Amino acid sequence: MYGFDITEEQKGLIDTTRRFTRERIIPVAGQYDEEEKFPEELFHEAHALGLANLEVPQEYGGMGLSCLDHCLVLEELSYGCVGIQTVFAANMLGSMPVILAGTEEQKQKYLTGLINEPIFAAYACSEPDAGSDVAGLSTRYDKVGDEYVITGQKRWITNAHAARWFTVLATKDKALKHKGITCFVIDADTPGVKIGRHEKKLGQRASYTCDILLEEVRVPASAVIGGEGNGFKVAMKTFDRSRPWIAAGAAGVIRRAMDESVAYAKERKTFGVPIGQHQAIQIMLADMAVKYEATRLLCHKAAWNIDQGSIDSVVSAYAKVFGADSAMEVTTDAVQIFGGYGYTREYPVEKLMRDAKLLQIYEGTSQIQRMVIARNALARCAAWARGGRSIRSPPGSHPPPPKIGASRRSRSTSSARSRVSPAPGSRKQPPSGGSSCWRISRRASPCTP
Ligand SMILES: Cc1cc2nc3c(=O)[nH]c(=O)nc-3n(C[C@H](O)[C@H](O)[C@H](O)COP(=O)(O)OP(=O)(O)OC[C@H]3O[C@@H](n4cnc5c(N)ncnc54)[C@H](O)[C@@H]3O)c2cc1C
Repeated sequence: MYGFDITEEQKGLIDTTRRFTRERIIPVAGQYDEEEKFPEELFHEAHALGLANLEVPQEYGGMGLSCLDHCLVLEELSYGCVGIQTVFAANMLGSMPVILAGTEEQKQKYLTGLINEPIFAAYACSEPDAGSDVAGLSTRYDKVGDEYVITGQKRWITNAHAARWFTVLATKDKALKHKGITCFVIDADTPGVKIGRHEKKLGQRASYTCDILLEEVRVPASAVIGGEGNGFKVAMKTFDRSRPWIAAGAAGVIRRAMDESVAYAKERKTFGVPIGQHQAIQIMLADMAVKYEATRLLCHKAAWNIDQGSIDSVVSAYAKVFGADSAMEVTTDAVQIFGGYGYTREYPVEKLMRDAKLLQIYEGTSQIQRMVIARNALARCAAWARGGRSIRSPPGSHPPPPKIGASRRSRSTSSARSRVSPAPGSRKQPPSGGSSCWRISRRASPCTP
């Protein structure tokens, strides 16, 4: 079965969030941005309405909503202010390691705690010298008796200043790279935990981003999430789950930029006609509409995959990179449509443009998403060229590469290898009609799982 319908429950969820956004977020978004005001009261209201911590399972008091439901809500919140949405969503980011890999005791304590009270959680992975390169992080832990002692510095941590607890990635030995990393849950009031400076940011200024300093922080063995040495996997699975949320945020920003642009294009006149009648403006509006639809579809596909239990890092990456890049392009065009007024704080589009930029940076930059996508493409091509199949992609996720001629497919492995790895100085051309897949596969073997 295949369809794009949403259920009555989902319509209700959208309506409730849309009302909250219209009445509570849109009127104050500009002021919160200008004053860099943290939306604590708004979060309390959202919590009371059931619009926070949406994926916390029902057995821990949460709504247990699907990733798709959550994305529908995030899009609506982002329409009002993606900075405020980031504050709300950071709670789910902080909780996701607990949901995915936590013990029953951790889930009872930390997830139920988020539902019982409007408190914050944070996810502390990035460091001053390790953002994209998670395996290169330096925050160190040592096992001392039954405890772990953690020392290091985390950077760019959303909601750190307000969080009651954090999920923290640390390594027992940096040289072990990803194999040395463990995920911990740490209460913010543990001795040795300090919150560092609050960053002054370009956009999303209602969200707070701070350092967390960990100075010989002692935690019990029960603070380990997902087993010692499994922290990198926990982090990557968390990102696979969270990247559709960023795409949902992008969809909200794009829709807002488009609505503002259409309204302005109908009103503003040049050369005696509304600017919406000029073809150059229409092309920008049309591109905005296409990017909105495509972002939403990719976001929903990634979320749907997750809800089916077949998480696909690559589809999550498609959604994140396309949504984030589209939001940047669309908001830049929105400023253009507004002309000089778009560049001032009198109109909301310059804020949208500043806010959109962060979508291309946090939770894996656009370059890192492309790296994930390209590595998978190269590995798939190499696997197909050997007559195998991708192990990462569920059926139907990706189109098959162009067909390689039957005669070539039936050749022995050794002759195939001699074709793809020519001896130095005897570089062979691909056979006539050879697919791009054949050409890529010569270089792909190092990335092949
Ligand atoms: C406002 C804000 C909120 C954030 N919130 C959180 C949070 O709550 N928790 C958390 O853990 N982190 C958070 N982050 C951190 C964010 O995830 C990192 O900033 C991001 O992953 C990039 O890391 P970096 O800043 O160290 O850049 P770097 O990794 O130093 O990258 C610099 C540039 O090099 C590019 N680059 C790096 N490696 C490659 C490569 N292999 N190939 C091609 N290009 C490459 C990057 O794309 C980027 O353009 C937040 C960041 C910001 C700005």
